[in-house]
Amino acid sequence: MADASVIIVGGGIIGLSTAFEMAQRQSHAGITVLERNRVGSGTTSKATGGIRTQFSSETNVRLALLSRERFAHWQGIYGGNPRFVRIGYLFVTASERQAALLQAGAREQRRWGVEVSMLTPPELARTVPGMATGDLRVGTFTESDGMADPGAATAALESACRRAGVTLREGAEVQSVRIGTDGAATGVILKDGTPLSADRVVVACGPWTAPLLATIGLSVPIRPHHRQVYRTGPLPAWPPTIPLTVDLDTGLYCHSDGGAVVFGGGDRDTSPSFDDGARPSDVVRLGDALIKRWPRLGEAPITHTWAGLREMTPDDHGVVGELPDHPGLFVAAGFSGHGFMQAPAVGLIMAALATGSPSPVDASALHPGRFLRNEDRRDTAERYVF
Ligand SMILES: Cc1cc2nc3c(=O)[nH]c(=O)nc-3n(C[C@H](O)[C@H](O)[C@H](O)COP(=O)(O)OP(=O)(O)OC[C@H]3O[C@@H](n4cnc5c(N)ncnc54)[C@H](O)[C@@H]3O)c2cc1C
Repeated sequence: MADASVIIVGGGIIGLSTAFEMAQRQSHAGITVLERNRVGSGTTSKATGGIRTQFSSETNVRLALLSRERFAHWQGIYGGNPRFVRIGYLFVTASERQAALLQAGAREQRRWGVEVSMLTPPELARTVPGMATGDLRVGTFTESDGMADPGAATAALESACRRAGVTLREGAEVQSVRIGTDGAATGVILKDGTPLSADRVVVACGPWTAPLLATIGLSVPIRPHHRQVYRTGPLPAWPPTIPLTVDLDTGLYCHSDGGAVVFGGGDRDTSPSFDDGARPSDVVRLGDALIKRWPRLGEAPITHTWAGLREMTPDDHGVVGELPDHPGLFVAAGFSGHGFMQAPAVGLIMAALATGSPSPVDASALHPGRFLRNEDRRDTAERYVF
């Protein structure tokens, strides 16, 4: 008998959500999560917690709608409280081209069931006091979107997994996946050399997914990109709540946090690297663009800076599914900066895939085979990435 029916490598929000949903559908006694550090200590612990339904791809919209619904009803599903607040999500632009894309995007999103409104510059000034709106053309606003607390969500999922009988092993680093002569996954090998057998293996290692798959000769283009977040000290007269607001032209974003402001972004095009250390002096790079859009941030003291790795793919969509030629080997990673908000839906999809039941969302656009076949993905790339 195998050591586990399913081994999930990685105890971030994706691995935990997958374990929880699998435990609802099959013998929970056989589901093991192996996490090299502490559960929830990876990229998930660095996330801002934004939850939005504005995307250009139907798949991402459907993942977001399903996930947002589950964040809203979290307590009844998983227990605990992820502190989901519907502060709204706003994209703004001063560019004619981006304005046309936002308008076209809003039309598509409405077709897919998203309630999105177009805001004029005067409406934008009322919605986000403190934002310079003179040059803006338009904004798209989703009032029901918002934010949750990644630490609280992970802790709640960890407890839900334990209650459901999932085995969570911390300090268990996986060195490689074991593959049988027929190509099927047969388990994993831990860093100390211990082999563990399993009928199925799910690799959910966030930005560290590609190095693990490389140990068995698989190249999946999930690349680590540094993302840094800054928190100011108290900023008198800054509104206690504004929507999570993204300047699409520069990729900068901000939201209120008590009497302070949290901001970041503008680092979409940095070179891939596994260095996730905070670099406080990088704030200089945001300089003029930040102050131009939110003039008050120029005078705000920065009291906290933290950074993590976003797990980006060439088309900015996640990688979810069974690897071609390797039955029983699944990937759930590469969510390109959307993994926190998509985790509830991804868990459901993974459980459906593993049990051969219908998926709640058509996840064919996320299949890992799209990269192994070297398809050109530029036309289908997600456009709402910042
Ligand atoms: C600064 C920042 C802000 C972000 N903001 C948002 C946001 O607002 N909204 C949003 O949706 N997303 C956001 N993201 C992205 C989000 O954090 C990720 O998409 C999400 O957390 C990915 O979850 P995960 O479980 O795949 O990865 P992780 O949380 O990284 O989990 C993977 C786990 O695998 C473990 N692991 C790795 N290799 C091994 C191994 N060999 N053996 C055993 N364990 C291993 C790691 O220790 C880690 O705990 C942000 C990311 C950053 C960096």
